Amino acid sequence: MDIVTTSSTSSFRQTRKEMMKIAIIGAGAMGSLFGARLASLAEVWLVDAWAEHIEAIRRDGLRLINLDGSIWQVSVKATTDPAAVDDPVDLAIIFVKSYQTAQAAAWAAPMLGADGLALTMQNGLGNLEVMAEVLGAERCVQGVTSHGATLLGPGQVRHAGAAATYLATRPSIDARVRRIAELFTRAGFETHLSDNLDSLLWGKLVINVGINALTAILRVRNGVLAEVAPARALMDAAVDEAVAVAQALGVTLPYADARARTREVALATAANRSSMLADVLRGFPTEIGVINGAIVREGARLGIPTPVNQTLVWLVQALEATTAARVLAGGG
Ligand code: NAD
Repeated sequence: MDIVTTSSTSSFRQTRKEMMKIAIIGAGAMGSLFGARLASLAEVWLVDAWAEHIEAIRRDGLRLINLDGSIWQVSVKATTDPAAVDDPVDLAIIFVKSYQTAQAAAWAAPMLGADGLALTMQNGLGNLEVMAEVLGAERCVQGVTSHGATLLGPGQVRHAGAAATYLATRPSIDARVRRIAELFTRAGFETHLSDNLDSLLWGKLVINVGINALTAILRVRNGVLAEVAPARALMDAAVDEAVAVAQALGVTLPYADARARTREVALATAANRSSMLADVLRGFPTEIGVINGAIVREGARLGIPTPVNQTLVWLVQALEATTAARVLAGGG
């Protein structure tokens, strides 16, 4: 396999002065993917609390396995200490898990320059609002990306899937968002602008509502949900509630039949472990609060019953709280 070594100071035509300065807060799978690809086009800092990962990146560079199998060993600045990002940044990309969004926004606050923007491309509903409480709505940007990435270990990430990325623009920040979109596109993330991402955001959310919690509770790969009748019935019921909430909010989903689309995605990703299953298996908190939890919250606000999603939320929260008490087959 070809190993291409790139550097954040590589000889791109821009001078350092013209380069956009970016802090990526949350350097897990997605933060590392974006960091590796942006590093030769911008001044990039990766900021993450996971010391082993940051140390590996500082020592050896960040190893990215691209979709075509090629491997990049990328030199990029990385730190566990947000105060180490000394220059003001033009862009802070928040790529932590949702339960760390408030902390990540607090880290971003002192880094952002006068015209700096904070962008979230996290899954689920409510991250932008959490960021806006800390940073002010005028500095926050919603994005949606259909790229996928998997962490292979400290300092190593695999690009797992590619599709378009969208950034929400509005007149007051349009020139800056356009510049970010151009940079992303140059970095290999085809990016489009839109003045309303609700349809795309909800389109992803409804599918995650159907797949994530159930795969985590049942400890199965995605395909099982489409193949096993009672699991499929639960998936359909969770999706129906999410669709009812979306309709009440006036959101038009990007597909006509949400049940069919969710089954289709479960089958197309049949061998995958969902991110929520992966989190439960490694004893980490999940993003249940911004996925099924968001349906429950919005349903309560709008007077729409969501008993299936409420049950899934309680089950996943109970799973999170009982990792140490789990009884294993053959165990004591
Ligand atoms: P991730 O689980 O890879 O990383 C999240 C955090 O977990 C990191 O900040 C890191 O500190 C920590 N972490 C990860 N592995 C660890 C380990 N072994 N030990 C200690 N700490 C560890 O998260 P992600 O998949 O990059 O997701 C970030 C956000 O992007 C989420 O909101 C997610 O929903 C969203 N997203 C993910 C994907 C994807 O394909 N991964 C795609 C689109 C959106």
